[in-house]
Amino acid sequence: MQILVTGGAGFIGSNFVHYLLNQHEDDEVITLDALTYAGSKDNLDGVLNDPRHEFVEGDIRDRELVSDLADDVDTIVNFAAESHVDRSIDGGKPFVSTNVQGTQTLLDAATEGDIDRFLQISTDEVYGQILDGKFSEEDLLNPRNPYAATKAGADLLAQSFQTTHNLPVVITRTCNNFGPRQHPEKLIPKFIQNAADGMTLPVYGDGSNVREWIYVKDNCRALDVVLREGTVGEIYNIGSNTEKTNLEVTEAILNAVGASEDLIEFVEDRAGHDQRYALETKKVEALGWEPQYTFEDGLRRTIDYYLN
Ligand code: NAD
Repeated sequence: MQILVTGGAGFIGSNFVHYLLNQHEDDEVITLDALTYAGSKDNLDGVLNDPRHEFVEGDIRDRELVSDLADDVDTIVNFAAESHVDRSIDGGKPFVSTNVQGTQTLLDAATEGDIDRFLQISTDEVYGQILDGKFSEEDLLNPRNPYAATKAGADLLAQSFQTTHNLPVVITRTCNNFGPRQHPEKLIPKFIQNAADGMTLPVYGDGSNVREWIYVKDNCRALDVVLREGTVGEIYNIGSNTEKTNLEVTEAILNAVGASEDLIEFVEDRAGHDQRYALETKKVEALGWEPQYTFEDGLRRTIDYYLN
């Protein structure tokens, strides 16, 4: 495969580029990334000089650039996004611009090019919160923060391109990822660093919000399976079945780092904070995938990464 990976200098995208080049010796990868505050070429250390890999600094909203790149590949995987919920609450404009208009630009370029598969990377947040049970791929979208709303918009655009232009689109919706190369503003890397530095760990509300956590390498393997084995037009949830409250995650980090639970500081809750997300994952499991890392194992590896 010749694959254009957008947002490949970010957290999950860079792990995916490493995964592809490690696992598939015949694959060639072009990484396109605008290197916003969230992206770094350092995340691609070890693959920047790989002859099967090219890094292009640029924007998914640049139609001429993405059309040129689409001509050189048969597959597009779109990770590029503004991804931090708190920033979207402060101001949604860049989220609409990159997540919606950027995806539209890529879909346009893919439709005019000769693309065998377009994988749109989405999130469990598009379904909104669920207090009991789990979301299946058929559930209605009910995004409750600006980030999630723009991701839902991108999903709908991608689906519409499949229906109206026959673009071979597949969508994945994954739960919260953790692991190496995540920006330090996100919960797990920030709390590891704070715990190691003896600084307080600010927990929203009473810490009871529940998230499903997947180690990023398990997600990359699932994305790769869906990319190669998934059915065009389908949506695949990717989850780990491991649910933790934010307080449980915080305590696990403090214990693993050997820091005191006195560092926990409860702070004013995030506006519109979703209480719980959970995903049904039968469809992706039917493709032969299942997670390989427990939360504890993934957390230990993640802590080792950040502290070294
Ligand atoms: P990230 O913020 O770490 O990375 C995003 C990358 O996109 C960055 O490298 C950034 O420079 C790049 N980018 C931003 N705007 C761009 C633009 N206009 N053109 C080109 N590049 C641009 O995000 P992440 O956590 O790695 O998430 C990647 C994708 O996975 C996103 O689409 C996100 O919605 C989705 N997702 C993330 C999670 C999670 O837990 N992190 C869970 C489910 C889905």
